[in-house]
Amino acid sequence: MPADLSAGVRDALTAIVGADHVRSEPIDQLIYSVDSYWLPQMWLDRGRRTPTPGLIVYPGSADEVARVLAVADEARVPVVPWGGGSGTQGGALPIHGGLIVDTKRLDRILEINERSMYVRAQAGINGGQLEWALNDRGLTLPHYPASATCATLGGYLAPRGSGTISTKYGKAEDLVMNLEVALPGGRLVRTPLVPNHASGPDFMRLFLGTEGTFGVITEATMRITRLPETRLLRAMLFKDVATGLEAGRQMMVQRLDPLVIRMYDPRSTGLLVKRVLGYELQGAYMIIGFDGWADIAAAQEQRALAICASLGARDLGREPGERWWDHRYDFYYPPHTLHLPALYGTIETVSTFDRIEEIYHAKKAAIEGTYGHLGVEYIGHFSHWFPWGASLYDRFLLKDAPPAPEDAEALHNQIWDTAVTTSLAHGGMINEHHGVGLKLSRFMRAQYGDAWPLLESIKDAIDPHHIMNPGKVGFERMPS
Ligand SMILES: Cc1cc2nc3c(=O)[nH]c(=O)nc-3n(C[C@H](O)[C@H](O)[C@H](O)COP(=O)(O)OP(=O)(O)OC[C@H]3O[C@@H](n4cnc5c(N)ncnc54)[C@H](O)[C@@H]3O)c2cc1C
Repeated sequence: MPADLSAGVRDALTAIVGADHVRSEPIDQLIYSVDSYWLPQMWLDRGRRTPTPGLIVYPGSADEVARVLAVADEARVPVVPWGGGSGTQGGALPIHGGLIVDTKRLDRILEINERSMYVRAQAGINGGQLEWALNDRGLTLPHYPASATCATLGGYLAPRGSGTISTKYGKAEDLVMNLEVALPGGRLVRTPLVPNHASGPDFMRLFLGTEGTFGVITEATMRITRLPETRLLRAMLFKDVATGLEAGRQMMVQRLDPLVIRMYDPRSTGLLVKRVLGYELQGAYMIIGFDGWADIAAAQEQRALAICASLGARDLGREPGERWWDHRYDFYYPPHTLHLPALYGTIETVSTFDRIEEIYHAKKAAIEGTYGHLGVEYIGHFSHWFPWGASLYDRFLLKDAPPAPEDAEALHNQIWDTAVTTSLAHGGMINEHHGVGLKLSRFMRAQYGDAWPLLESIKDAIDPHHIMNPGKVGFERMPS
């Protein structure tokens, strides 16, 4: 057991959660040494070990989470919250050992309120389980990430995730009404009942995007909606990215309220759309969708079709749109998903309409120009849209990573540096929905510039001993 996890700490934790809910067997430690980040998966694949936690605890209530944090704070032990482990940024990795606080026993739905349309649930509930329980009543939490069946509610919120239909319903952060959070000193705090008020600052937002560096989310109240009367999906083919982007922009600024706009660049259309949906097309394949009341959705769709037609798009009809909807998650799972031995990364970003096309071209040129001779490819699609801009979900991929893990890691990190510095240089964010975690931690100062020390001082105030998830989201200080 590492020096920082004395028998006294283990005994204190066992007294809180019970002996069955504290683990440190090598197999448990191995499981929690890898999440969905490519880098630790690659090291493990090549027979190398990555850092493991000293102990894994499974609290059964918010109160137990708070008491666990009090013990860890007193002993200055690093604490890493763990939801489903589906995060791709290494945010849940115990890079400095210490404690993993796995939230999965916090899995209860506490209230479904159909009058005010919200659900209150514990943060460790699985996204799929929550959704199916709502669906049974004709309701839905309109946050549909491709990872819903492996992620938790807390994991949706901690990195500010986006789902397939965020363009209409908002990101996870737009759907949350209030939170209960366990803080490092062992206190439980609850944010006000409603999010839209003028009664002081919105401190709830401090816990969204901090990825477990400020505390452990133990409960969340989320807005829900009725399952729609209709859902209209359709596919369009644009000659290029520029015309597709302009069509999407017009739909958004004219407030047509699309459920989804997803436009694959010509390379993704030729590669992914062909592989997953079986269509052989040249150009930029775009899905548009509208939902809600049948008459309103139909009218919105008509206006969208007029915009697409005015920009020369070919209307491919409903079937390819509906087929995409039915297979929308297949893109991210075997046999279609990227996997080892390939070297890959999702280098997504977001920016305003006046910048996003330039960012796409700049990143494509930078990745292909710098690494194309090694066989590295660049693909992208535009997946989450706002009234002011859009996100670019782009990826680099190389069929076979260099065999030596050190070389593979070096190339991986180099390509990431190129991708993120190019996004930043052209007005993009380092990330739109996967979060920062360990992977992008080194870019936080560049992202925030003069504002970064302010964020550090907020962290110091909330977590004065730096026990919460050290080494993530730019907060590098170790427990002391
Ligand atoms: C196949 C696949 C598809 C994906 N698709 C999407 C997608 O469509 N949209 C999207 O946004 N993301 C997607 N992701 C990324 C990932 O699934 C999401 O970020 C997800 O919401 C993470 O949830 P989790 O419970 O697995 O969190 P984890 O991976 O366990 O943790 C992620 C981070 O949140 C922190 N954390 C977890 N729970 C808590 C808590 N209760 N309190 C405080 N901090 C906490 C962790 O410490 C860590 O820093 C995908 C990932 C995969 C593997």
